[in-house]
Amino acid sequence: MHRSRNAKIIATLGPASSDASTIEDLFRAGADIFRLNFSHGSHAQHEQVFNNIRSLERTVDRPIGVLLDLQGPKLRLGEFARGKVSIRNGQPFQLDMDPAAGDEDRVQLPHPEIFAALEEGTTLLLDDGKVHLEVVNFSDTHAETLVRVGGELADHKGVNLPEVVLPLPPLTDKDRADLAFGLSLGVDWIGQSFVQQPEDCHALRELVGDQAGIMCKLEKPSALMRLEEVVDAVDAVMVARGDLGVELPPERVPSAQKRIIRACRKAGKPVVVATQMLDSMIRAPVPTRAEASDVATAVYDGADAVMLSGETAVGEFPEHAVNMMDRILREVEQDPHYLEVLKAQHLAPESTTADAICYALQVVVETLALSTTVIFTASGSSAMRAARERPAAAILSLTPNVRTARRLSVTWGVHSEVIEDVRGTQQMVDKACEVAVEEGFAAPGERIAIAAGMPFGTAGTTNLLRVTRIP
Ligand code: PEP
Repeated sequence: MHRSRNAKIIATLGPASSDASTIEDLFRAGADIFRLNFSHGSHAQHEQVFNNIRSLERTVDRPIGVLLDLQGPKLRLGEFARGKVSIRNGQPFQLDMDPAAGDEDRVQLPHPEIFAALEEGTTLLLDDGKVHLEVVNFSDTHAETLVRVGGELADHKGVNLPEVVLPLPPLTDKDRADLAFGLSLGVDWIGQSFVQQPEDCHALRELVGDQAGIMCKLEKPSALMRLEEVVDAVDAVMVARGDLGVELPPERVPSAQKRIIRACRKAGKPVVVATQMLDSMIRAPVPTRAEASDVATAVYDGADAVMLSGETAVGEFPEHAVNMMDRILREVEQDPHYLEVLKAQHLAPESTTADAICYALQVVVETLALSTTVIFTASGSSAMRAARERPAAAILSLTPNVRTARRLSVTWGVHSEVIEDVRGTQQMVDKACEVAVEEGFAAPGERIAIAAGMPFGTAGTTNLLRVTRIP
């Protein structure tokens, strides 16, 4: 079975979708990867869900990716004596380390690292940006502020500081425990929250090595300022528009999204557009037209994958949401204008043998109007470089490594199959023809293009391009 589209779908699992049968429904509706959000749930619950996914993988005989999304540091207010207060534009309001219950004049902010990073004029955004405070005076343990945008504040509301790089360790103790747990399960991707700078990703890499791919969640303006370095440090990027949309004014999110996609496309790394894509489907079986347009725009922009969060995790219509996303993606990809956009976005190959081969592959596909390319890949890198070319043919990726196959489930256009290692060129050609027919990509008598690296099974050796007719 193969999907009739190139862009991929990530579905977040949660209370609405963690049982084996709903996960199967979501997969059949079009989900290519499942996201486990470690901001919620216990290890025992995540392990059960993980096992459900792996058991589905055996049932459907397709590699399925699992993304563990780390919570990252959460900055929150303390508590109010009456649970909540209302603060007015222009009034003074104090944040401090005193755990005493707050009121209309002050509340606890139990984060010394925030006070350490303040400057006069720093803006603090509270409750997902609904309330704005401006710092007028501060010490190591308190900040006097003026309320620039007032509103209601309640216990434990979140705090964002868009202009500041906070002196926080990139991973909390909880993240470290969740990471160790996820790696022991064998998850394929780690989503890193709260990345402020590329060094944060290097710190995660030290712990992850090559046990999983690292997907940086781009949600902070400071990470955007060093975008190319961040992209360089990771294996994939998520445009995490939930937090990004708090830290940036809404009008700057679309251009940031496009800029992030362009940087990732140039680097040949998968890029995921996430959050509020079909948000109204949490409660309704159809999306708004604006949401449908948002999903389509991400694909026209060149994203590898689009993601569902609350829609599938807690929504009333998880399967409808995946199905709708699948239909939108397929519709875009059938639009002749989309193919023109892909062509216009074509990127120059880098000066490597692998890129030269993948570039040639794309030219062969176009010249001979081929429907299928077959890539033999050990680490997945050749399949990703082939996908970077956005060829007008299916990319059938063959690997002896199931972890590579699962990881590639986020990459545009790549359909992975796990095969036994091939030993020589003839075996390679035979295998490519066999799987292309078996998987329904090409028919006997048709020509296909094959890219591979010799010696076989060694990562980073793509150096061979072959065109063959299926017997
Ligand atoms: C986001 O901020 O868009 C996101 C995906 O992260 P989270 O769901 O952890 O807020």
